[in-house]
Amino acid sequence: MAAQILDGKALAQELRAGFKERVAALVARGQRPGLAVIVVGEDPASLVYVRNKVDACVAVGMHSEKIAYAADASPAEVLARIAELNASPAIHGILVQLPLPPQFDEDAILEAIHSDKDVDGFHAENVGALAQGLPRFIPCTPYGVMKMFEKGGIDLTGKEAVVIGRSNIVGKPMAMLLMNAGATVTVCHSKTRDLAFHTRRADIVVAAVGRPRFVTADMVKPGAVVIDVGINRLQDGPNAGKLCGDVDYENVKEIASHITPVPGGVGPMTITMLLANTIEAAERKAQ
Ligand code: NDP
Repeated sequence: MAAQILDGKALAQELRAGFKERVAALVARGQRPGLAVIVVGEDPASLVYVRNKVDACVAVGMHSEKIAYAADASPAEVLARIAELNASPAIHGILVQLPLPPQFDEDAILEAIHSDKDVDGFHAENVGALAQGLPRFIPCTPYGVMKMFEKGGIDLTGKEAVVIGRSNIVGKPMAMLLMNAGATVTVCHSKTRDLAFHTRRADIVVAAVGRPRFVTADMVKPGAVVIDVGINRLQDGPNAGKLCGDVDYENVKEIASHITPVPGGVGPMTITMLLANTIEAAERKAQ
């Protein structure tokens, strides 16, 4: 039987409708949630992501500003702007779009954001809080995946979960969230000796690799829940230019119990949870 599709687009819409009410309540208390998005350089994909984030904020009544720098901007001027935003009462969340040009030390930039405004959840203090099981800001993509489990009624307690990918943005925080939720977690990466050995015994597979159709049906246990974080643009063939995930969706959906599509799965949830974190930051400040 074909898998049940975990529809991130529909869930994102549902959650964003609820955000409008929370934003209106904050505005009534003189605290309109505000997100500042810093982007350096002209990378087309980054500019699209930034525009989508700003538009999504505005659509639920939040304030959002894009702060753009040329690719040759100096780290000192960006750091000075982050210090201003840290002090600004109109801004509750600050996000720096990655990757940054080579003259930047990304870690130093991320650490310069005040941890109370670190709505991406990348600051060491927030990473530490998540590791302790007391998260303050959860990184948006794995946070979105957790919401999809919740919506799909998927109980994680005692489940075998395999996360493929160990990035700071997706893989590591995903593993911590699954562990905090009671799953037994294995994290795989490019040095893992026998990836399929791990995935075949998993009740939950989260793929965050960045390789099109990397997870094939023979790697998945029948009835497993398969979450596809990957966003890849196909280079050649009849579908060149189209988006595709890390999972061979057409074949894996025939054996999985639940699966996320690409597009329309995890992607729309990421920006949604960025809004959630920013609203949460404003609510904390309003208290
Ligand atoms: P990274 O490139 O930072 O990490 C990829 C991970 O995959 C690494 O840990 C790497 O291992 C691992 N990997 C690479 N090749 C293999 C292999 N052959 N076998 C097992 N593991 C492998 O990517 P991100 O985590 O930032 O992103 C992953 C994917 O998710 C990308 O497609 C990205 O576009 C997408 N993404 C989607 C988002 C969304 O909103 N849906 C948000 C963020 C990312 P190693 O560490 O050893 O190199």
